[in-house]
Amino acid sequence: MNKTTKALISLGINCLLLIIAYFVSVWLKAAPPTIKLLSQYVSYVLFAAAMFFGWWFNRSRVFFCSLTLMLCQLALFQLIPQEPDAAEYFYMILSMTSVYIPLNILVFSIQRERGIASSWGRMRLLFIAVELLIGAWIIWYNDSDLLQLFNIKLFPADISFVPDLSHMSLLLYFITFIFLFGRQAVTGKNHDTPFMGITLFSFAALMFNKDLNTASVMFALSGLMLSAVVIRASHSMAYLDELTGLPSKRALKEEMLKLGSKYTIAMLDIDYFKKFNDTYGHDVGDDVLKLVAVCIKGVGGGGKAFRYGGEEFTIVFPGKTAEEAIPYLEELREYIANRGFIRRNKNRPKEKPADIVTKSSSYKKLYLTVSIGAAEKNEKYRTPEEVIKAADKALYNAKSKGRNCVCK
Ligand code: GH3
Ligand code: MG
Ligand code: MG
Repeated sequence: MNKTTKALISLGINCLLLIIAYFVSVWLKAAPPTIKLLSQYVSYVLFAAAMFFGWWFNRSRVFFCSLTLMLCQLALFQLIPQEPDAAEYFYMILSMTSVYIPLNILVFSIQRERGIASSWGRMRLLFIAVELLIGAWIIWYNDSDLLQLFNIKLFPADISFVPDLSHMSLLLYFITFIFLFGRQAVTGKNHDTPFMGITLFSFAALMFNKDLNTASVMFALSGLMLSAVVIRASHSMAYLDELTGLPSKRALKEEMLKLGSKYTIAMLDIDYFKKFNDTYGHDVGDDVLKLVAVCIKGVGGGGKAFRYGGEEFTIVFPGKTAEEAIPYLEELREYIANRGFIRRNKNRPKEKPADIVTKSSSYKKLYLTVSIGAAEKNEKYRTPEEVIKAADKALYNAKSKGRNCVCK
């Protein structure tokens, strides 16, 4: 699947969530008063949770986006009494929040993750404080000149389907959305998906500004999304290996608990990798390790790959005997041995030459092999730990046999 298709799918999921949230808000209109009241406050709890875990896991984008949305929702629906003579203040706040929200999502997304309790974190906090100060000034002194800056006319015609949002807000929402979607479509990484979501949901919340229920549900969905980001990040930290992105040893331990009565475990170790590092450097070693991990992940036969540690990997084949798994391991071993890993020189040309191997001296193919030991669960090896030990022994045999082979 290409990167743009992936980004479009992410967008589709966000739109689906938006539609579901809308139907929830329609249902809420007929719900008992206590549920209705609760639904107006649930987003604050979710934003607070996202901020807490954002702080805990040092995710500044989650933290500051949650803070922005929480303050904007507070200002819109809690600060001003919901009375007709307060409408003027409500529109003042709406003008500002509808600019601040997309602006902050954009600003906090453009910058690299640099933590919260750092000078960068303090700068972001200062940024929000200045926005708050401007807001307070405008409301306190009824400063229509300053407010006018938020409502500047940028397009010749009015955009009638969002009558309450200023041109500045629409432009910022458009830029933020295109930036997040575009970056995901270019990089193929889905870090921006939830932020694309909160851009859409907060836009919907502002569009439904006269409908407290719907707006609250949209804010709650944003809070839920931001909380989910940190939960996912903490899960990745615990279960995914940072360098290769493969499941880690901890994930392997969990997988071992789920194994049934028939399975095979293979241990894989890169041959002469120490020498490889000594020759080409640790950084090249890391790059190649990542590429080898991709190959291992692609193993057939339903094999699940894990990084065991260093340059050692584990492949688990649930429901397969060693005899059934070995052809897939042989195929993998051969694939890695013949694949060749391209090493890019520092002074390589910017443009990739048509034939990287033969025509350019800046690209060089390096070859690596792996040794694999496999063992299955049987009468002798009853637990996954025992099977791993047996696979390790088989790996040792593969090394003694001269490497680049699979042993049972
Ligand atoms: P053998 O064929 O017997 O396995 O030889 P070997 O050199 O691979 O020996 P061994 O498995 O003992 O060496 C492991 C080496 O792998 C040591 C270390 O330099 C390298 N290594 C382990 N983890 C990493 C890593 O994360 N990045 C890099 N670049 N190298 C690593
Ligand atoms: Mg080793
Ligand atoms: Mg090795």
